[in-house]
Amino acid sequence: MINPVSLALGTKRNTIMELADHGRARAAIVGKENVFDFSIGNPSIPAPEAVQTALLDILQNMPPLAVHSYTSTMGDPHTRAMVAADLNARFGCAAKPEELLLCCGAAPEVSAVCKALTTEGAEIFVFAPYFPEYKPYIEQAGAIFRVVPPDIPEFQLNLAALEEVLSPNTSAVIINNPNNPVGTVYSRATIEALAALLERKSAEFGHRIYIIADEPYRELVYDGATVPFIPNIYPHTVVCYSYSKSLSLPGERLGYIYVPAEAQDGRDLYYAIVGAARAMGHVCAPSLMQLMLARCAHVQPDLSTYDRNRRTLVEALTSYGYEMAKADGAFYLFLKAPGGDDRAFSQKAMAKDLLLMPGSDFGCPGYLRLCYCVSYDTVVRSLPIFQALIEAE
Ligand code: PLP
Repeated sequence: MINPVSLALGTKRNTIMELADHGRARAAIVGKENVFDFSIGNPSIPAPEAVQTALLDILQNMPPLAVHSYTSTMGDPHTRAMVAADLNARFGCAAKPEELLLCCGAAPEVSAVCKALTTEGAEIFVFAPYFPEYKPYIEQAGAIFRVVPPDIPEFQLNLAALEEVLSPNTSAVIINNPNNPVGTVYSRATIEALAALLERKSAEFGHRIYIIADEPYRELVYDGATVPFIPNIYPHTVVCYSYSKSLSLPGERLGYIYVPAEAQDGRDLYYAIVGAARAMGHVCAPSLMQLMLARCAHVQPDLSTYDRNRRTLVEALTSYGYEMAKADGAFYLFLKAPGGDDRAFSQKAMAKDLLLMPGSDFGCPGYLRLCYCVSYDTVVRSLPIFQALIEAE
């Protein structure tokens, strides 16, 4: 009586985690400093000082029961008001606390939103290359996982391909901006073109196609890049935000879902998401973290460490002959695999304890994902290996 789909998901592990496990096992043998692990997007800068200060103050000065009790399922109203105020100040929108659901990070958020947007036969689209966990999130919801081919070499959105495959069964498309695994930022023009297409197709099919905006990297941008706030362009957007990357708190599980009131059937959609989260076992986001967020909703990360890694890698790898998409967001580079075979190159790199994820795992063969959220020392000492690997091709 064991569910075979769950069993398959549990036993065939996520390949990113497998590669990261391999890195840990090698570190135990050859020493941590000799493993160049660019496999996983675990932030490498500590949480901002304001976060530590708030947490310590809350723990030392608030009654434990007030700190650790259940909150409302939707999240503490004061914290939601502070998040709404921050969104309104930064993006000129009119978010209200009752349009927000505090949740345990983007992973369960996207999963719950997929569930809320799934009726019999529904299909949800992702754009390749895509975060591989979207597949289980969409399929657990009961929807059909559909992939739009990549837009090579720009890695914006392949809207011509999307137009061909949208159907009356389409309920939503997932947009991840800035993008994992490419590290690119979808421009305002790209999002406007997507919005126009979805507007036209929604009218043609007689029902709304929603955007699910998965935005854990929204604040991680460089070279003056700006990430368009999608609800300002297409109000029928559900934002799934996470503090895992921007506040370096991936293990604490905190984020929010924002469903603008202007979204078509916005209130019903909000409550359907609350219901989907409830059915998935969501009770409330961690209460200590909610209290911290009430004080830190406006805090922005210091990106200088990531930016130094990014600049050093882009400059050195380009000089060795590597090609990559424009990388002005998140903490990823997406390298064209020298020799063309991403899995083969990843294996050759692994033999030198340099860990890169094959693009095939993101629906985009022929490329490699490099996570530069590592120490600067790791970046610098990895460069001769990158050079030797491409020279050997
Ligand atoms: N979506 C994308 C694109 C991600 O890269 C990640 C994590 O790396 C997540 C969602 C899940 O993040 P969280 O820690 O907020 O659940």
